[in-house]
Amino acid sequence: MTSPKALTIALTGNPNSGKTTIFNNLTGTRQKVGNWPGVTVEKKEGTIHRYGRDLKIIDLPGTYSLTAFSIEEVIARNFILDESPDVVVDIIDATNLERSLYLATQLRELDTKVIFALNMSDMALSRDIQIDSVKLSELLDVPVVYTVGNKGEGTDDLLKKAIEVAESSQKPPMERRVKYSKDIEKAISQLSGFIEDRVKDNFSYDVRWITIKLLEDDEIVKKRVLESVNNQGRIILEEAKQQRERLTRLYNDEPGIVMTEERYGFIAGIIKEILRIPRKRRVDVSRNIDLVLTNRFLGFPIFIFFIWAMFQLTFTVGAYPMELIGSGIESISSVMSSLLPDGLFSDLIINGIIAGVGSVAIFLPNILILFLCIAIFEDTGYMARAAFLMDKIMHLVGLHGKSFIPMLMGFGCNVPAIMATRTLESEKDRILTILINPFMSCSARLPIYILLAGTFFAERAGNVVFSIYLIGIVIAILVGRLLRSTLLKGDTAPFVMELPPYRMPMFNSLMIHMWDRSVIFIKKMGGIILIGSVVVWALSAFPQNFQFSRDYDAQILSIKNSYQVKELSITGQEREELERVTNKTIAELESARSAEKVEKSYMGRIGKAIAPIFAPIGIDWRGSVALLTGFVAKEIVLSTMGVLYAAGGKEETETLKETLKASGMTALSAFAMMVFVLLYIPCLATVAAIRRETNSWKWASFSVVFNFSLAWIMAFAIYQGGRLFILHFI
Ligand code: GDP
Ligand code: MG
Repeated sequence: MTSPKALTIALTGNPNSGKTTIFNNLTGTRQKVGNWPGVTVEKKEGTIHRYGRDLKIIDLPGTYSLTAFSIEEVIARNFILDESPDVVVDIIDATNLERSLYLATQLRELDTKVIFALNMSDMALSRDIQIDSVKLSELLDVPVVYTVGNKGEGTDDLLKKAIEVAESSQKPPMERRVKYSKDIEKAISQLSGFIEDRVKDNFSYDVRWITIKLLEDDEIVKKRVLESVNNQGRIILEEAKQQRERLTRLYNDEPGIVMTEERYGFIAGIIKEILRIPRKRRVDVSRNIDLVLTNRFLGFPIFIFFIWAMFQLTFTVGAYPMELIGSGIESISSVMSSLLPDGLFSDLIINGIIAGVGSVAIFLPNILILFLCIAIFEDTGYMARAAFLMDKIMHLVGLHGKSFIPMLMGFGCNVPAIMATRTLESEKDRILTILINPFMSCSARLPIYILLAGTFFAERAGNVVFSIYLIGIVIAILVGRLLRSTLLKGDTAPFVMELPPYRMPMFNSLMIHMWDRSVIFIKKMGGIILIGSVVVWALSAFPQNFQFSRDYDAQILSIKNSYQVKELSITGQEREELERVTNKTIAELESARSAEKVEKSYMGRIGKAIAPIFAPIGIDWRGSVALLTGFVAKEIVLSTMGVLYAAGGKEETETLKETLKASGMTALSAFAMMVFVLLYIPCLATVAAIRRETNSWKWASFSVVFNFSLAWIMAFAIYQGGRLFILHFI
């Protein structure tokens, strides 16, 4: 046998959690009692020889936290940081979980191995408090041992576990710690990056922990940073100060306080998962609001109501500014047309750029309202409850409730939604959530449904649009399951759903959160949609010099001339009637001319070339081109349809509706087209976001190919199936 190894085991825990009792159980009489250097805080340590090892056991002072507020906390913290014990045994008082876990979550932030002793388990039992220790162990990735200190129960198991963990070659787990909210995590990663850049050989302890303490403005850590990296320390502290100030402005509260609240939110999430307590005592523990909002029966209807209200607000309130912007764009358009001389350039400006970008700009209010609602949900803390409620449903897809937040945001715009998946810890969960996100019908697709459903389903339009959204959700669940059992196999990693305290949302932070997401949409308008509109316009405006099949101009001219001649000889009713007929004929001729122009344009030719792909799903060449342009941005589908069907470059909905009806499109093919629009290729910005967030072209191209095929198959099934059905049964 080799010589016995010496291991250091430190006991931590809240005061009165039973530390000293367990320490006595372990060491018996072999203990030394003294003081910690320089202070009159009792220090107990003992060395025992068990299981072939020398074990040095230390009873650290009892603390509730690891901040620098009391001397006990500083002693416990410094011991763990500087003496690096082989394992820290955290004694958890089972009758006082919330307070115990506050220390426990802080220990998990240190770069040290931890195990839990779930002490006072006899008391918990007698009070009918049940704790799911397996779940607790999973959620924090820490071994848990039941102990009853005063009866000596579990002491041996605890010791064995402590040795096992101390000697295992595994590093302390870095995952399943408290995750702070987006802005704080951003500050943490920026600041720790800043520190790592400047301090090559790092500190002897976790940089994340140092960073968190600097954000909390921990005096002792600040002093250490100054001492240990002398010349760089000042710069680091200055940067930390700036981050702290930025966060203070954002939250209107000190970061340390916000982080404490968030830790308690994390703990509330753990407790909700692991603790079963008798009904009559529940009120003391969870907050009264949660009693209602996450209630088994009430929670869900309330949640549905909030979502319904959100969409209601988005579309009804959004309609007013929408109209305003619409008429604004119209007046810009008419000012431009009076300023610019007729010709290609004015056509580009008016029918290309203003019409194209304008048709998208109109939706800006809806987007802003939707993102404002989402920001309110997030900032009040309700979003976490929604995720909690959705957890069971999301498990249908093999995902956690947390993935629900990006899914909900997908109804606004898939791009920020895909970016929101960053909060998910598991790589596979993230990719899966990203891939099914485009099935959440984004707001860009809505106007297309409104047009098609409005045209072909009249008063049932609302239900039809709702059914499209529903189909998207069902498809997302099915595809999610499919991917979960094939390409993205794996168990859902256990995690804690943070339940942050309810807060009154801050106006500033709401605005910032709303703006952060909306700005993506605005950039999209100025960038890809502008370019897309110009390309679509160019393809429909060129080539310019081709022969029309009829001389429209001459015909129009002759009709005008003949009107002028006849006009002189008639009066009253007859004259009005003639004027009406003449105008109608001229309008028809003009629209026929534009129709032919488009048909002979590059766009028309492309449309005709790809039409065979779309014919089996009931979409003609014009629809095909519109769908093709939708790859650039779904918003462009509508403006392209405007150009092609209304064939005058005008997007007047009434005429567009009439032309659509006359084009041979039926209710069935319109429905097939809506389903196709729902499912097919995500827009360019979304594909780019998928590539960026999965860091792989593979998943981006998978999404394009898979979604397109799925859309085609679904639309085919609907269109052909529907036709068969009509043929046989109606
Ligand atoms: P410390 O402050 O963490 O060192 O706690 P102590 O070890 O002094 O324990 C505080 C009190 O709790 C003592 O009266 C112990 O006898 C009692 N105690 C410790 N562990 C248990 C336990 O598992 N069950 C019960 N019922 N009492 C315990
Ligand atoms: Mg004690």
